[in-house]
Amino acid sequence: MQNPFENALLQIRRANEAKEFPESFIERMTHPDRQVRISIPVIMDDGSQKIFEGYRVEHNNKRGPYKGGIRFHQDADMHEVNALALWMSLKCAVANIPMGGGKGGITVDPKLLSKTELEKISRGWVRGMLPLLGPEKDVPAPDVNTNGEIMSWMVDEYEKLTGEMSGATFTGKPISNRGSEGREEATSMGGLYIFNALAESLNVEGSLRIVVQGLGNVGGNAALLFEADGHKIIALSDSRGAIVNEDGLDVKAVMEFKKVTGTVVGFPSSREISQNELLTLECDVLIPSALENQITGENAKDIKARLVLELANGPTTPEADDVLFAKGIHVVPDILANSGGVTVSTFEWEQNLKNEKWTKEDVLSRLKIKMEKEAINVLDNSRKYNTDLRRGAFILAMERLSQ
Ligand code: NAD
Repeated sequence: MQNPFENALLQIRRANEAKEFPESFIERMTHPDRQVRISIPVIMDDGSQKIFEGYRVEHNNKRGPYKGGIRFHQDADMHEVNALALWMSLKCAVANIPMGGGKGGITVDPKLLSKTELEKISRGWVRGMLPLLGPEKDVPAPDVNTNGEIMSWMVDEYEKLTGEMSGATFTGKPISNRGSEGREEATSMGGLYIFNALAESLNVEGSLRIVVQGLGNVGGNAALLFEADGHKIIALSDSRGAIVNEDGLDVKAVMEFKKVTGTVVGFPSSREISQNELLTLECDVLIPSALENQITGENAKDIKARLVLELANGPTTPEADDVLFAKGIHVVPDILANSGGVTVSTFEWEQNLKNEKWTKEDVLSRLKIKMEKEAINVLDNSRKYNTDLRRGAFILAMERLSQ
């Protein structure tokens, strides 16, 4: 597994080759403001004590409070959280929202925890990170294996410890607990708006065959939304395996099947394939929506999609970027493609601060305007500097951050 932070730093240096920034700025970007590691002791259901490791990286707050999700995963570590925090600074700048970059995590496989243990570990993370958090300081959100319910426990713990009502300290909360309409599907909806804004210019139009890796919050909603937009979802996967049906999968039915069995594998009228076969299927659009380092120097030459829409963070390594660019495959980079999530998180934060409640139509129309505008800005930049969309997006973010 490549170190994702090294990849993120390399992406910065490569963008700096396309447009040169002051060395002092580049150096600043490569050093997060603050890295915190905590121990979270939890009394498990059997009475034993286990200590889990938790992280928060605050990368940069020049444009606003640190902002970024919290990931619960057995492979989460400081390198990964560092990379994700750096990408958040860039992403918030691309989306042009008043937020800085941060990210959090706990090294744990949540599938092995009971619900009580999950709640204890979530509250423990907040207790350990309390000095950092606050609506004007650092505002976390969900990421892989975390969700609205976990955000509810976290905001409750924060409010108990501080004695203040402060919904704006966490985003991605359930609608019933000061969450925003449209947040659940915001990342995927933003991805669809961006895709549609670029499709004609990138010559990827019509009714398309789509492959989605990772049927979680982001991948599941993306599959539903692209299907509803007239495209055919031909392959889907989760951490346990991948399935294909060239005639198209019924996404809702696959999700219902997964809810019962725990995996997409075994869905009737589909064929099981390997994780790597899924990535290299003949298709128009490949949507990685799981983890980092999926499209690498090893498999990039076999990718047959015409366009890769990175809804996951860091799914394509810099080495793979070069191979795809040479093959004429467009990569809509994560810091643009999945910026809809943090954009609606910022809308949620704003609603909480003003004690307002926006309608879903209002949230989505604001999101659409922002996503379309920044997609075109990134495309223009890539053309201006005669480079790929990733460098175009990095240059846009770095221009805004350096100013
Ligand atoms: P999630 O936990 O809801 O879903 C992750 C999915 O990926 C699960 O279905 C899991 O089974 C699957 N998965 C894990 N490992 C896999 C593998 N090796 N192969 C195939 N599938 C695998 O998480 P999510 O919130 O949907 O996040 C997915 C990605 O999107 C992450 O990279 C995250 O950082 C990024 N992202 C999320 C948001 C958000 O709003 N949740 C916003 C921006 C970016």
